[in-house]
Amino acid sequence: MQHVYLDHASTTPLIEPVIQEMNTVMREHFGNASSIHHHGRQAKMLVENARKTIAQALGASIGEIFFCSSATEAHNMILTNSIKDLEVQRIISSPIEHHCIIHTLDHLASITDVEIVYLNVDKLGSVDLYQLEGLLTENKKNTLVSLMYVNNEIGNIIDISRVSEICTTNGALFHCDTVQGIGKLPLNVNDAPMAFLAGSAHKFNGPKGVGFFYMNGDNIISPMMYGGAQERNMRAGTENIIGITGMAVALEKAIEQKEERADHIKKLNRHMRTRLDELAEIVINGTNQIDNILSVSFPSNERVDMLMFNLDISRISASSGSACSSGIEHDSHVLQHIGHSKERKTIRFSFSHFNTIEEIDYVIEKLKKFTPVKKA
Ligand code: PLP
Repeated sequence: MQHVYLDHASTTPLIEPVIQEMNTVMREHFGNASSIHHHGRQAKMLVENARKTIAQALGASIGEIFFCSSATEAHNMILTNSIKDLEVQRIISSPIEHHCIIHTLDHLASITDVEIVYLNVDKLGSVDLYQLEGLLTENKKNTLVSLMYVNNEIGNIIDISRVSEICTTNGALFHCDTVQGIGKLPLNVNDAPMAFLAGSAHKFNGPKGVGFFYMNGDNIISPMMYGGAQERNMRAGTENIIGITGMAVALEKAIEQKEERADHIKKLNRHMRTRLDELAEIVINGTNQIDNILSVSFPSNERVDMLMFNLDISRISASSGSACSSGIEHDSHVLQHIGHSKERKTIRFSFSHFNTIEEIDYVIEKLKKFTPVKKA
């Protein structure tokens, strides 16, 4: 067996049509989209076509889509400048958001007067939306609600229509980290209206270092970077035409093949769950999860303690649920918030349509070498 890649929530490989498109752009369209001559106009046209593709995919208008370098950049800008420009006084979020949200909020708490409130999360990782409703009805201060669509570690899906409705009813702005849901789950800003969302190409078989954000025309914020007038003054810096065109093709393909990919991934997920059942004392973290993410906790023993290493030398790439600081390994912030036992080792397996049933079987057979198997 070649290497098995089960870390698609971390990043995904480029698909062939994306490589082809990017190759063509690299070879033939090197112009600067801000130039008014032939080469510039060609580059500009590519950027605008990509914008149209992304806007259509989200039910947005083209004027509401902006390109940038990453979802991290977009989230930083949205959180920071909504305080400055939209007079946001309170941000309600959850403690299991991605670090690009949590660390930005920590920073904002240290330099502004904004109130940051984290919603309660239960042991399955469900965010308390009744609490959200309560907070918004009790206190009408200007609020931005920042909640992620799909949790990148445990795969929990949040009901974005409900969050959107709660926010709309109470006059709050909804900002959604949609990175792990884009191209996989329904996402249309007409069905679930929101003020902001952000996406990242490398999570849906596009290139790294390019992303986009949606900003609803009613809630305009100022840019984070100053310089040129690119992206209608919202994001200075010469456009990454190769990345932007690659991202649009990747999203187009993800949407075109959504059902087909989802069916295949569902089969992989069901198969892995069935086979994991052969192992003793394992726990699958989360609830209402997306099919491409399976977070599995294993009982501790000396081989499981080295599980990531053991999987790696078995030619399996997955992701650990731990972080390392000052040489001490500890559970990730997400696992800590769902009351995960420190004794256990957690591995996140994340699939794509490229994985096969044989690969899952191979992973299970390897896992059986490191963790106890149920007695027959
Ligand atoms: N949000 C979530 C849920 C993610 O999984 C990631 C990437 O790991 C990000 C945000 C950041 O995306 P980017 O790599 O574009 O900065």
